[in-house]
Amino acid sequence: MPATKKVLLVFLPSESGVDGARSLYSEHDSSTLFSWFNRSLRNVIKQSQFAIPPLSLMILSSIDVQGVEQSICDMRFEEFPFKETWDLVGISVQTGMAKKAFALADALRSRGISVVLGGAHVTLFAESCRPHADVLVVGEADDLWKELLTDLTACTLKPHYQSDRFPDLSISRPVMKTSLINNRYFTTNLIQTGRGCQHSCDFCNVHVLNGHTLRRRAIADIVAEVARFKHDDRRIFFFVDDTINADPIYALELFRQLTPLKIRWFGQATTTLGQQQELLETFARSGCQALLVGIESIETTSRNAHKKNQNKAGELSMAIKTIRNAGISLYGSFIYGLDGDTLETPAAILDFISDTRLDVPGINILRPIPGTRVFERLREEGRLLFDPLDITAYRYTFGQEMLYTPKNIPLEGFIESYSALTREIFTIKNSIGRGLDAPRAKAAVLLFNLFYTHLYSLSRSDLKQQLEKEALGKNHFAIR
Ligand code: SF4
Repeated sequence: MPATKKVLLVFLPSESGVDGARSLYSEHDSSTLFSWFNRSLRNVIKQSQFAIPPLSLMILSSIDVQGVEQSICDMRFEEFPFKETWDLVGISVQTGMAKKAFALADALRSRGISVVLGGAHVTLFAESCRPHADVLVVGEADDLWKELLTDLTACTLKPHYQSDRFPDLSISRPVMKTSLINNRYFTTNLIQTGRGCQHSCDFCNVHVLNGHTLRRRAIADIVAEVARFKHDDRRIFFFVDDTINADPIYALELFRQLTPLKIRWFGQATTTLGQQQELLETFARSGCQALLVGIESIETTSRNAHKKNQNKAGELSMAIKTIRNAGISLYGSFIYGLDGDTLETPAAILDFISDTRLDVPGINILRPIPGTRVFERLREEGRLLFDPLDITAYRYTFGQEMLYTPKNIPLEGFIESYSALTREIFTIKNSIGRGLDAPRAKAAVLLFNLFYTHLYSLSRSDLKQQLEKEALGKNHFAIR
């Protein structure tokens, strides 16, 4: 009988992430009390299991092929196990982490270990990954992975796996958690009900990667998965879909069927939920504690400029109040610095937060992701701050970072006003107030606000440093 093939799936940490916010630009300033506090807090956050597991690797490791044994290496918690023998190592590549992923891939291949690269970056920029891999998986891997593992057992691996269509998610594919170490994570109960988004926000890559058509899993499969997951882990559930209310008839039926399981859950929705009364009540009854909603902008000109069309600016405030009145806490994500924004925008955001009593405000700077329409537009307009050919500079970080020049506001003035905005929103007093005021999940709301109070102070300091010396001083003028 041939020996079992050992496959390791690797998840790389982002530069600055939920496992503990860290400074992007002043990491080396290790002598100050602030840096010591920052490192200590990061360890506390890490040890309090703030992180969630990598779902895409959970899905792949659940694909069962005879003669193959798969495990996950989450490098947020462990070093790469070089001492063990691997027949194949799969690395999930995100654009901002591509250099790290390539360095690991090169090191493995120099030791004779075969490497497969997949993930968002490979799907969008396959050719740039080719020199670092034996095998590339382009696109959603659900079907391709089975084919690849079967080829591995037959020693007939191909250099390229790609499908000309998105996987049909209605086919039953149970997700297993056997490759996870449970107590590392805040929860292991991650559920995906579907993929794709019918909207076209120009800063988002969801519709680019997963298409505009909503593809849904069978409701019976999800209900069975939730029951099975709950049996192993009674902590909170995360529904990771970008818009859990996108197909209201489907969502209504799904959460009606989940209600008897008595779970508590977090998810992500559009503010349209405020106008979907029956669905909203069903969410609340089925155990929804909190939702993340992408508000992005309350300026009509900015919403139009970036194709954020699913709700009108004037409807947002009422939608948020309606959702909170149903007993669901809200994390509202804003982007300041969109193309219709001016120096008046921060005051409007402050008024909006105070009027709606939003539980956790997330105040982001526009992040032009390579592969999106906004990246191309900013490149054509000469507004990107790093070399557009070095797409790995456009990294994802949990902290804020200037990657472009805003349209209507000079860079220095923008950073000043952004810093003033986050300084005003994220104080200890406001964090406690929002925690106490939250309709549900008060402790989580409080913790998030406190975490953000620290995170945004790091971001302010980073932005100042970025502006003063390092990145902008060199890169910005270098490309002009
Ligand atoms: S931001 Fe949300 S609504 Fe817009 S395209 Fe992305 S997933 Fe869809």
